[in-house]
Amino acid sequence: FMYRVGLTGGIGSGKTTVARILETLGIPVYYADDAAKTIMNTDTGLRQQIIQHFGDASYTEGQLQRKYLADIVFSNPEKLALLNSLIHPVTIRHSEEWFLRQTTPYAVREAALIFESGASENLDFIIGVYAPKQIRLQRVIKRDGLTADEVQKRMNRQINEEMKMKLCDAVIRNDEQQLLIPQVMELHEQLLELAGKSEVKSKKSC
Ligand code: ATP
Repeated sequence: FMYRVGLTGGIGSGKTTVARILETLGIPVYYADDAAKTIMNTDTGLRQQIIQHFGDASYTEGQLQRKYLADIVFSNPEKLALLNSLIHPVTIRHSEEWFLRQTTPYAVREAALIFESGASENLDFIIGVYAPKQIRLQRVIKRDGLTADEVQKRMNRQINEEMKMKLCDAVIRNDEQQLLIPQVMELHEQLLELAGKSEVKSKKSC
């Protein structure tokens, strides 16, 4: 039995930073966006579907042509939704297999899109990482060397942050007003307890 925890938040909120802290506490993390990049090159079924919908130019010598696809989907919300609908079921299945291999009391799936992708249905608890928009904007400009306009465009493709946080079971405030590490440690203790309780429950129901 594995207690499955989701970790989400908008671009620049600090999801990866929180995930790294959890890793130092011994908790394994599945990085869904990184995994998706690999899977798009390795899963032959997914490759076939992408080619079918987006053309042969999507791959060259078996390698996904990211720029080609990005140009198509980031100027067309319907095509973006279509691409996501092909990718998400495959990464969800992949992360389910990954969860089954973990031996810690709980494990974490980090992803920008958890509610939008349907991944939340397979998770027991979802952590939201929150930071105000202006702070997120500044962080991403600094980290990725993008312009404010480019970051804004990426933000516009994600659902409203306040709304997303309401759907989470716990919210970490990474707004540079409150210390981050103590919040993560406290949540970690809480999750260990919840994972222990749900293990007892699942044994009883067997
Ligand atoms: P994305 O969705 O774009 O991958 P993310 O939610 O994973 O973003 P991070 O990469 O963790 O966000 O953080 C964005 C940037 O802000 C990083 O460069 C990170 O080092 C920095 N950052 C995050 N939290 C803090 C903080 N509390 N204080 C200062 N810098 C921070």
